[in-house]
Amino acid sequence: MLLQSRFFFSSVSTPPPSLLSHLFLLPTKPRLASLLPFSSTFTTRAQLAVSLPLEEETHDSNPPSLLSPFVEEDDIQIRIPLDKLFVPPEVDISSAAASGRVLKGSNIVLGPYARNAQVVTADFVKSSVRTEDCPSDGIPEFALVGRSNVGKSSLLNSIVRRKRLALTSKKPGKTQLINHFRINDSWYLVDLPGYGYAAAPHEVRTNWDEFTKNYFLNRETLVSVFLLIDASIPAKKIDLEYASWLGQNQIPMTLIFTKCDKRKKRKNGGKRPEENVEDFQNLIREFFQAAPPWIMTSSVTNQGRDEILLHMSQLRNYWLKH
Ligand code: GDP
Repeated sequence: MLLQSRFFFSSVSTPPPSLLSHLFLLPTKPRLASLLPFSSTFTTRAQLAVSLPLEEETHDSNPPSLLSPFVEEDDIQIRIPLDKLFVPPEVDISSAAASGRVLKGSNIVLGPYARNAQVVTADFVKSSVRTEDCPSDGIPEFALVGRSNVGKSSLLNSIVRRKRLALTSKKPGKTQLINHFRINDSWYLVDLPGYGYAAAPHEVRTNWDEFTKNYFLNRETLVSVFLLIDASIPAKKIDLEYASWLGQNQIPMTLIFTKCDKRKKRKNGGKRPEENVEDFQNLIREFFQAAPPWIMTSSVTNQGRDEILLHMSQLRNYWLKH
């Protein structure tokens, strides 16, 4: 079964031209959050405003809103135009935007399939050399991938709230393995080896490419690739190529921007994380029919952790239903 037919990124209708003029992605001065018509406002600091019920297989039509009415002093507000929001299936975009159901620090609209998805159990299951050797129990999975040093192990450990779960793929260029971790006995987090390791010999890098691309193209239970991008530095060519490849091959992808706590760069001529996030998206736009979902994270502050889990839960529950 084709991945694309199981889950798709829906496109949204374009807002009227009169609204387009003031819809942009831009940090503004801290102030109280207010929702603008046909846009989404959020803060870069992750905070869940409500507690959610336990994960269920069924969905109801009224998931709680996660947009807190309060913004702390040092939060940055970002506005996202409607056509850059990620709208899950079965969501009416105008009512979602109006009620503020957008996950904080992301462009992801919360739909009816979102459930509390806190990790209760996380167990390493196996390392596979080939896609064919991966677990065959048919449960959904999400693959984490990114350049060496992007913060993948730290993020994985933060998601599962363990200090050292992700150790298996720590030797770049050496461990060409697909590592499966079973979460809550019902889905997998998959850790793929980091790419772009400068010291890796050429044949190892080529091999890595074939190895992971084969997995992306053939793994039927893969719900979405989570491509990690370091938001504390400008976009790297290799990351842009990687994202474009996923887009061109219509592999469902979520961009996870890491290290968003690193905010001191401006003095040295660098950009702030939210600016790097915007730049990256502009650079890959042409390769996607609709805006891919993205989330800003930090393993230091745990920003984005709950948002990732909610996003995964709605993708997963939708995937299970279809
Ligand atoms: P991996 O090679 O992708 O698995 O990256 P690691 O998780 O080992 O992290 C690489 C380096 O980045 C380490 O020095 C981490 O402490 C640091 N790091 C990872 N995540 C973050 C983050 O969210 N914020 C900051 N400031 N540093 C991070």
